[in-house]
Amino acid sequence: MRKLMAGNWKMYKGPAETLAFFDRFEAPDGVDVVVCPPFVSLEAAVGEEWPIYAQNVHWAEEGAFTGEISAAMLVEIGVRGALVGHSERRQYFGETDESVRARAEAALEAGLQVIACVGESAAEREGGLTEQVLERQVAVLPRHPDLVIAYEPVWAIGTGKTATPETAQEAHALIKSLHDTRVLYGGSVKPGNAAALLAQPSIDGALVGGASLDPDSFSELCRIA
Ligand code: PEP
Repeated sequence: MRKLMAGNWKMYKGPAETLAFFDRFEAPDGVDVVVCPPFVSLEAAVGEEWPIYAQNVHWAEEGAFTGEISAAMLVEIGVRGALVGHSERRQYFGETDESVRARAEAALEAGLQVIACVGESAAEREGGLTEQVLERQVAVLPRHPDLVIAYEPVWAIGTGKTATPETAQEAHALIKSLHDTRVLYGGSVKPGNAAALLAQPSIDGALVGGASLDPDSFSELCRIA
């Protein structure tokens, strides 16, 4: 199966830097690539060759939800999908399993693809709660062919700590037993560790944060996939 490599730019790159990224970025034909710029850079990016996803999407069609963006608005400007439930949203912006489910459902209904993020914190892993947390987070996600899950152990995001390929494989196998979909790994993926992770049988691609900001390193990761 083709691997899916998704770049999550977090709160980096306005429209000018977005265009500069795509001037240098290259990916081979054999891999699916998605880029998730910040909201204000989406329109600059949608003219490019690769599908562009938002980093979040609201569940309502419209309404008094200051600071939020609806699925229909994303569709209108040519955005093809959205992340939901990223751990930074859960950690800093109060996202819950229920709001993640609602955002995913609204996006799918509007015809967007969804990458739904799940993953345990360091304390949950140390407390032996990894399986329980993943089961709870996956249980609420819609069963839909356009939904992909990203397993992102919170302790490995932006920390430089990567799950070992075996640890990641174990979590991916559990997630696949709960939800029949592609499962991406995320957490400090870099050119130096990607090949071993992507070689695992249940790892179908990667959600890449920091290393997707540099066009050369994200191009390299896409070649490795
Ligand atoms: C992410 O933002 O989804 C992520 C995995 O970040 P990083 O690759 O920087 O750990």
